[in-house]
Order: sequence, then C-alpha cells, then structure tokens
Amino acid sequence: MNITSDIWNSPRDYLLARAPDQPVHFFAPAALQAQAKRFLDGFNGLVTYAVKANPEHAVLSNLLAAGVSAFDVASPNEIRLLRELAPHAALHYNNPVRSKSEIRFAHNAGVKSYSVDGFREFAKIQGIIPPAGVEISVRIKLSISGAVYDFGTKFGATPEKAIELLRRAKSAGYIPSITFHPGTQCEDPQAWSAYITETAAVARAAGVTIKRLNVGGGFPAKTAKGAPDLEQFFTLINEVVTKEFTTRPALVCEPGRAMVAESFTHATRVKSINDNGDIYLNDGIYGGLSEFPVLDVQRSYTVLPPLGEQRSKTEISALVFGPTCDSLDVLPNKLQLPSDIAEDDYIVFQNMGAYVKGVTTDFNGYGQLETVTVLSL
Ligand SMILES: *Cc1c(COP(=O)(O)O)cnc(C)c1O
Repeated sequence: MNITSDIWNSPRDYLLARAPDQPVHFFAPAALQAQAKRFLDGFNGLVTYAVKANPEHAVLSNLLAAGVSAFDVASPNEIRLLRELAPHAALHYNNPVRSKSEIRFAHNAGVKSYSVDGFREFAKIQGIIPPAGVEISVRIKLSISGAVYDFGTKFGATPEKAIELLRRAKSAGYIPSITFHPGTQCEDPQAWSAYITETAAVARAAGVTIKRLNVGGGFPAKTAKGAPDLEQFFTLINEVVTKEFTTRPALVCEPGRAMVAESFTHATRVKSINDNGDIYLNDGIYGGLSEFPVLDVQRSYTVLPPLGEQRSKTEISALVFGPTCDSLDVLPNKLQLPSDIAEDDYIVFQNMGAYVKGVTTDFNGYGQLETVTVLSL
C-alpha cells in the first residue's frame, strides 16, 4: 500500500527541504476529489474510472471517497485490485480482447459488463458466461479525428459489424449496449456528437433498444494551452443523446486522463548540462516522461533551483535527454528554459497524473519513483 504519513504543503516546499535526487510524483488528493465531483455533478449518467490511467491505491481510494462507484478494468490484475478495495463496485471489463481464462476470472469475480468488437470474442464469452443479467456492450469505431492519440486502429467494430453483434447479443439473452472510445486527449467535443449519432443509427438498423450507451474516456486534461471546458462536453453529449434516441439509453462515461491528470505534478532534476547546452534529466521516456513521444501536447512546466533562487527571464531552447544510455531516450520537442538553468535545478511538469506510474520501467537501473502527498500543487 502506498500510504505516505506526511503531507506537504506543496511540491516546492518538499523539493527545497529534501533536495531529492530521484524523480518525485506529487499527488494532491483534494484536487482529485474535486475533479471527481465535477464529473459526478456534470455528467448525466454513471461515471466510471478507467483504472489503467493511474492504478495507485491512493488514487482509487480517493475516487471511492469522492463517490465514484464503478470502474473500467482491462485485466484480471485490475479486477483483483478493485475487489480488494471495493468488493461491491461495479466493474466493466472493457478491453475487448480476453483469453478464456481471463473471461473465467472476471465471471468468477462478479463482473457483469463486457465490451465486444468481434464475433469470435463474443462466441468465447457466450461459451463461458450465461447471459442473465450480463451486459454485452458492442464497441464501435468510426474514423474520426480529434483525439491526439487514436484508438480506432486497434479496437472497435465497423457500424455494419456492430449491427450484427448487437442482434446476436440480444437474441442470446444478454443485455445489449453500445460503447465507444474516441481516443485519448480528444479536444473536439464534436467527436462525441458524431459517435452518438452513428450509435443511434446502428441501434435503429439492428432493431435493438440499447440499455446503456458508454461514451468512453478520452476527455481532455489541462495543457499549456489551457483548461478544457468539460461541462461543454457533458452538455453536448446529453443534448445529442436526447435528440438521436427515441428510447433514451442510460449514459456511462469512463474517463482516465481527464479524471486524474491534473492532480499530480512530476518533478525531474537536471543531472548534467553538456558542452553544447543539452540537458540530461534524471527521468526520461522509459520513466515518467514516457508519453512525451506519443502524445503531442504542449506541456506546462516550471523550473525550481534547489535553493529557491530566481532564474533569468531570458529563455533558451534546449534539447533534453533522459538518464539511460539509449539514444532514443530524448524528448521529442525542445523545452524553453531559463538561459541560466543549472545542474541540480528541478523541472516540474504539471498535469502528470495519467499514464506515468503504470508505464514507468526500470530500464538501465532507473525508474524509482517516489509519490509524495501534498495539500495543493
Ligand atoms: C484507456 C481507456 C479509457 C480511458 O481513456 P482516457 O483517454 O485516459 O480518458 C477509457 N475506456 C477505454 C476502453 C480505454 O481503453
């Protein structure tokens, strides 16, 4: 269990007092609970949390404390984790590809909702789980841009196939539903509108009244460009569902990134500056910065010298390497940094709660990551 007994005021206080040489992940539970309430108050349906975005105990238990009662899980280990913390939470197994033993495990753990995007995977579930009270949520894909990182190439049935899957699920006695996931950091609310319209057309064509519509995760988190207006996404989703469906399905959403990103910052440290002015950090793409090469968003960061002194307002553009001996370990975009940045300074990245802890490796002997609880970030 990851319980820190001491709570610091801010990342700054901790970094100045402790001068840590390893990367530090700072967590503000109050910020996470506030974001959870924003989803719970603003979204007109069931709010589930996509566990893969950040599976830390402290995250899951603060979400439970804030009132989140359902979770999107993708593996037996995620199911086990939730069953320990919240034996009665609703779990949706929304990774559409599962081995037979994974299906058996989920069934024995009381999971009642499964996404499906193919006939073979559906038949596998049918062979193991009796239909009564079990939801089959057909995952559809569209070629829609708007997400910074599109999932449509890996998962999702075409509308034609979704129609047939929905019919099969219904006639086998399962509860028929539909799900989609527009990709991650999807900054265009119209992506949801297009998906919902298509979903309604699929349900009509199948002649099936769906019980629930899961509008996925993919909601954007704050970047250097600013904070997204999530309420605008919620309002649009609600309006389009009302307009497109004669029998309105219950709504479900499964945010990962937008729920958790803003409640963490991630502090890295300058290990060395070479003769060309290139910077070597104590963390890189095999550690906490693994998303930088795949998710092209403008990052917010600040520089904190170890004694809290001021750095110059004049900026330089610097190439930034990670600590390993691999030449791939470099940030794809140069960082704008004070011209007098120095060894031992901290570079503190904001909005870093998603897809850091679960994907940090120990390649080359790095990857130690301490999590420190703070009152505010
Ligand atoms: C990863 C994932 C999510 C969460 O996505 P975010 O972009 O982090 O909100 C939701 N649903 C499914 C099916 C996923 O695979």
